[in-house]
Amino acid sequence: MIPSVLPTYNRAPLSFVKGEGAWMIEADGRRFLDLGAGIAVNVLGHANPILVEALTTQANKLWHVSNLYNISEQQALADKLVDNSFADTVFFTNSGTEACELAVKMARKYWFEKGHPEKVEIIGFDGAFHGRSSAGIAAAGGEKLTKGFGPLLPGFTHLTWGDVAGVNDAISKKTAAVIIEPVQGEGGIRPIADDDLRELAHICKENNVLLILDEVQCGVGRTGKLFAHEWAGIAPDIMMVAKGIGGGFPLGAVLANEEAASGMTAGTHALACAVGGAVMDTVATPDFLSDVNRKAGLFRQKLEGLVASYPSVFEEVRGAGLMLGLKCTALNMDVVNAAYDAELVTVPAADNVVRILPPLNITDDEISEAVHRLDKAAAQVAANKD
Ligand code: PLP
Repeated sequence: MIPSVLPTYNRAPLSFVKGEGAWMIEADGRRFLDLGAGIAVNVLGHANPILVEALTTQANKLWHVSNLYNISEQQALADKLVDNSFADTVFFTNSGTEACELAVKMARKYWFEKGHPEKVEIIGFDGAFHGRSSAGIAAAGGEKLTKGFGPLLPGFTHLTWGDVAGVNDAISKKTAAVIIEPVQGEGGIRPIADDDLRELAHICKENNVLLILDEVQCGVGRTGKLFAHEWAGIAPDIMMVAKGIGGGFPLGAVLANEEAASGMTAGTHALACAVGGAVMDTVATPDFLSDVNRKAGLFRQKLEGLVASYPSVFEEVRGAGLMLGLKCTALNMDVVNAAYDAELVTVPAADNVVRILPPLNITDDEISEAVHRLDKAAAQVAANKD
């Protein structure tokens, strides 16, 4: 009999009943260190007092009002995002997937309004993940996402990951935009080099093509800058944000410059924006971000040590900031399962990678403890391989 929750996920046999910062407590009382953060969602960990306060204060005041009215919390969060990014304007959504829908629509509408209705095609990259809606799977293009869901939304082509030079050849008179994650998450923690991102931004500009960045997983402080593309010193035209911006409350956004947004004329929620405002107040500060960078250096150094100790389990550490990936020589799922035995939560990704995406406020002691538990897990996997 089909379970009452549609079985679209392979779930680990774990039921967490409580969370405290970077810790999750299982129904049987075991305490797990959380290096998944709900797949890069809980940037400030579980039950963060600042976010709890923002949420409960708002919950006692006003819940949902439609976009038919001015929403002061929405306005305040939009202002914070505009003040702290390339963007001139923001539209809020509930998720990254919806942000993808709007990013695609915004790019197409822009060219339509400019008198170029033929410019509808969007160039993406292999290994991408942009959400599971019809536009999201078409934009990503991978067979794992698209098989059986045809006919797909037309107008998407895909290049090999990192083939920036290929973009020049792929652009035609019909190209509206290029879409890329500065660090691929689901694709296996694959950062694009700063030089390549600069080159891509240049190619887009030269050819009158919009650049859409998907920072749903790598944004909101995850790489040690508020947004990952800042490392390359470029600015996109349109950017998708979600996950971390709500700190665990469902919230997404599309940020855009005035020009790219100009085709859009004419929903959201006071609660989510109140939490998002508190996330921004905490994360978008130089002290917080420099601490993310310091901790990322510490974590990475410890992981490099682990890779050196267990060559039969790990091949390399990669990623940016606290968006780290352990490319495995063993099966990544064996590492993830052994980590569960060591009471540690990690997340698998494509390309045989184990993702390390802790809350950004994880402490130094928790990083040491996490590496200790990962060491235990690696020893178990190595012993089973022998
Ligand atoms: N884009 C990227 C890069 C993602 O990692 C995800 C989710 O994993 C999405 C889009 C979809 O976001 P959401 O799950 O909030 O719909």
